[in-house]
Amino acid sequence: MKAVCWHGANDVRVETVPDPKILNPRDAIIKITSTAICGSDLHIYDGYIPTMQKGDILGHEFMGEVVELGSEVKNVKIGDRVVVPFTISCGNCFFCQRDLWSLCDNSNPNAWMVELQMGHSPAGLFGYSHLFGGYAGGQAEYARVPFADVGLFKIPDHLTDEQVLFLTDIFPTGYMAAENCNIKPGDVVAIWGCGPVGQFAIKSAFLLGAERVIAIDRIPERLQMAKEQGKAEILNYEEVDVGEALKEMTGGRGPDACIDAVGMEAHGTDAMAIYDKVKQAVRLETDRPTALRQVILSAGKGGHVSIAGVYGGFLDKIPMGSAMNKGLTFKMGQTHVHRYLKPLLNHIENGDLDPSFVITHKLPLNQAPHGYQIFKEKKDNCIKVVLKP
Ligand code: NAD
Ligand code: ZN
Repeated sequence: MKAVCWHGANDVRVETVPDPKILNPRDAIIKITSTAICGSDLHIYDGYIPTMQKGDILGHEFMGEVVELGSEVKNVKIGDRVVVPFTISCGNCFFCQRDLWSLCDNSNPNAWMVELQMGHSPAGLFGYSHLFGGYAGGQAEYARVPFADVGLFKIPDHLTDEQVLFLTDIFPTGYMAAENCNIKPGDVVAIWGCGPVGQFAIKSAFLLGAERVIAIDRIPERLQMAKEQGKAEILNYEEVDVGEALKEMTGGRGPDACIDAVGMEAHGTDAMAIYDKVKQAVRLETDRPTALRQVILSAGKGGHVSIAGVYGGFLDKIPMGSAMNKGLTFKMGQTHVHRYLKPLLNHIENGDLDPSFVITHKLPLNQAPHGYQIFKEKKDNCIKVVLKP
């Protein structure tokens, strides 16, 4: 089959690789109909994730049709149209039973690697390096899905791929980011990053009752989408002092909640410099958590800080004094996609929102390298790329 394979920083290639096979009685094989490129893939593309190997198949936002089943899978059948959460979860462990799916104890065979570094292991993730289990990703014609009984969600036929694809990641991610803000009536929520995750955080903050949302970025078309589609007020961080502007817009109080939907944002040569560093250190140390610093410094007293953006390794210069003295509450993590999938599917079916609004590019799978490039460089007004195998 054809698949998008990683070969190094800024180097992805579409190659012919062996088809996936059932390895475990709880596996399923999916024929992929749509698969997207995520901001998290850019961390790999930038070279920030040190445990990638040349030839690893990328991609964790995918859906398709079930074509083969292991002998123990009961909840789905061949021919079902399904979406696949990006986190791999067994459904039975301590964490899955507590609805903390992205912390599953049984889905990451390489947990020891993570434990060497951080003490605890997260769940396995599709297409996200050997630190997260080394699973082949879904930017491909086929993928193997472990724990298929809990890892596949059936989708009604009347909804298009474009309407449901983002249930695999960025819609639940934006939603959990907003839910982590503990929004109360009258609240003002500020959101850093108007990429796809930021766009869904904006929509979700309003769904959860925010009175105002202020969205921050520097890319004009992303700010425009936040304003038109999201009904957010917008700030360009290259044009204004964001902290001052937020104070002014909130009568001096500061936002009640701040969401970081940026993460390890890299620009040009910076990414390469950090890549050289991680190759030696296996740990990422960066002094550039610009957005996160601003998030903490801008949050109002008693406010919530919700971090959806992905960070790895160690970060410098986090203003903990400000966080302490304002009594901020922090929440973060990989999204518990399984928790949100059905309620958010209901929102789509009710017509509360149509997630396809973020798609700016639909490309055949073999144009993935171009897709990565324009998504990273924000060229051609690119906001979200969907690949069609
Ligand atoms: P993206 O790269 O398209 O969007 C990031 C946006 O942040 C860009 O529009 C960029 O211009 C903007 N930005 C950069 N620096 C900024 C700053 N200082 N202030 C304000 N905006 C700034 O990526 P995306 O797909 O929207 O993903 C966003 C983040 O969410 C990534 O870090 C991704 O890894 C993460 N993510 C997390 C989860 C999770 O489970 N927690 C899931 C999916 C994605
Ligand atoms: Zn993603």
